[in-house]
Amino acid sequence: MEQSSSDSRAGLEETSASTPLLRRKAVAGDESSRLIEARLEAILECLSDAVLSIDNKGAVVAANAAAGALFGCSSEALLGAEAARLLPENALSASERKTEALARRLDGSTFPAALTVKEARGAAHFRVAVIRDLTEERAAEALLCELRSELAYAGRLAAMGELAAALAHEINQPFSAIATYVRTARWLLQRKQKQSEEIEEILDKAGAQAMRAGDIVRRLREFVTRGESVKTVQSLAELVEEAKSLGVAGARQIGARVRVAAQTENDHVLADRVQIQQVIVNLMRNAVEAMDGAPRRELSLSTSAADGFARLDVADTGHGLKDGAAAALFEPFRSTKATGMGIGLSISRSIVEAHGGRIWAEPNPQGGAIFSFTLPLAERL
Ligand code: ADP
Repeated sequence: MEQSSSDSRAGLEETSASTPLLRRKAVAGDESSRLIEARLEAILECLSDAVLSIDNKGAVVAANAAAGALFGCSSEALLGAEAARLLPENALSASERKTEALARRLDGSTFPAALTVKEARGAAHFRVAVIRDLTEERAAEALLCELRSELAYAGRLAAMGELAAALAHEINQPFSAIATYVRTARWLLQRKQKQSEEIEEILDKAGAQAMRAGDIVRRLREFVTRGESVKTVQSLAELVEEAKSLGVAGARQIGARVRVAAQTENDHVLADRVQIQQVIVNLMRNAVEAMDGAPRRELSLSTSAADGFARLDVADTGHGLKDGAAAALFEPFRSTKATGMGIGLSISRSIVEAHGGRIWAEPNPQGGAIFSFTLPLAERL
């Protein structure tokens, strides 16, 4: 290690008075200060971190080899240099502190550095700065950041793909209901009878379905753009009742009986109304499709509450679950239907889990399947 003035030598001795090195000397009692100095120099030269000693006028009075390498010159070239040219003055000013700063090489180029400054007071007042180049660390961080954002982007794309498919899936229902209502209204008009009340009612229903379709699109768009949903305290029994009126048409078509056993006490959950209704309607539609052609066609929806959760069971008497496939059904694009997309249950799971609940399927002991989900009770939140 270079030393350009007696000041710095005195300074090093001063420092060493409080360092383990000198304590060791006191114990051994066999080393002269020259020897200690030589040993200190050797240690500093071995360090991979740059070490600068700065005198009370702010000039570099000692620099190890790593410092030369870091600042793009020989360690000798640093001697006498103004420390403020190499490191920001504010980073150097505080005594004994760790900081990060933009360091400057002698050629003017800069690099990010981690800096530890220690101030020594005594016969000679000087500072020691230990500097580590953060360039590689920063590059690795930037790469990690980039990878993370790429991953998030890919995840988002996948989510958007899922949502687009879900949108097609969900939107189909209100639109086909609208088409049916409009066709019926037209048919009634063609009969040229005074059916205005009935037609009005049908058109109201078509209007409500159009609003629902709009609601679904809006929610899904919000989900894509903000990743949020609008949650309010809702009665699960009421959600089931409302969803039932949307899902019951399909059941009627196949001559299935729909039974609801909803417990209205202690059933308040914090939920996005449209999303949870989507889940219920989806479970009902799946149940109806599973019962198409089955000898017994009974769909029962029952709610209950236990252990801080409200629960809905959607039981059918359809063809039942394929052996051991209950968990896989919730994976996207798993469909056993000729025209199925296999997306309904995966979206349902995302929705239920985003609400802090759980969704699962099990065989119905009376034949068929039971799809259930739980949502945390509002009181519990
Ligand atoms: P899709 O209805 O488009 O197939 P879903 O995610 O809704 O997609 O369902 C995935 C698969 O789960 C269905 O294809 C079907 O095999 C199975 N499934 C869903 N509900 C039931 C049910 N109630 N009974 C039996 N199998 C069901």
